[in-house]
Amino acid sequence: MPGNKFKYNTLGPASHPKIPNADTLRGKIIISPIGDLDSDLIQRVGREIHRIYGFKTRIAPLIQDVVFAFDSSRNQHCSTPIIEKLAHLAPPKAIKILGITRVDLFIPILTHVYGEAQLGGKACIISTHRLNEGLAMGVWEPFDRRVIKEAIHELGHTFNLRHCQNSACCMHYCRSIKDVDRKSGVLCRYCKVLLEDEIKRLVLATT
Ligand SMILES: [Zn+2]
Ligand SMILES: [Zn+2]
Repeated sequence: MPGNKFKYNTLGPASHPKIPNADTLRGKIIISPIGDLDSDLIQRVGREIHRIYGFKTRIAPLIQDVVFAFDSSRNQHCSTPIIEKLAHLAPPKAIKILGITRVDLFIPILTHVYGEAQLGGKACIISTHRLNEGLAMGVWEPFDRRVIKEAIHELGHTFNLRHCQNSACCMHYCRSIKDVDRKSGVLCRYCKVLLEDEIKRLVLATT
C-alpha cells in the first residue's frame, strides 16, 4: 500500500503505543489502527467518520497486535475478544472506538466478517483483509471506499443502528463484496433520524 505506514514492534517490548491523555479524547471517536496500515487511508476514514457522525476523530493505536484472538484451527482471528479489549482500553471520555486491522476476522457462526460491533456499545472493528477482492493490484480507490463504508457501518451499530432494508444505505447488511460496492457510504434518512436521537440521548447521559 502507498503512503506512510504505522510501524510497531521495532523497539521490543518497551515500545508501547503512545496513548493520548484522556482529556484530549473527550467527545472524540478513536480510530485505533492495529499493525501496518496506510496512514493516508486511516486519515481519510477519520474525515468521513467526522462528516457522517459529527464527532472529531483521533488516531490512537491502543493495541499492538491481535495474537490473543488467533484461532489456529481456523487460521483466523476472532473479532469479539478484540472489540472487548478495545472497549476496555478506550478512555471513558472517548465516545466510541474503531479498530482497523488487516487480519481476517470471524465470529463462530460465520466463515468471516468484514467487521463486528457492540450494538449500542463503545467498540467496533473492521478488517481490510477481504476488501480488495476482485481489485487489480494498485487499484486503491475502490478499496478505500469499501474500507470507509465498513467503518461507517460498524460505527453505526455502536450508535445503536440496526441493519437497514434500504440497499443503498450504509447500514445495509452485506453478504458479499458486491453488496458493499452497491451500497453508499452514507446513511439513509431513516437511519439519520435514529442516529440523531441516539446522539441526543448520549449527550444527555454525559452532561
Ligand atoms: Zn452490520
Ligand atoms: Zn438506513
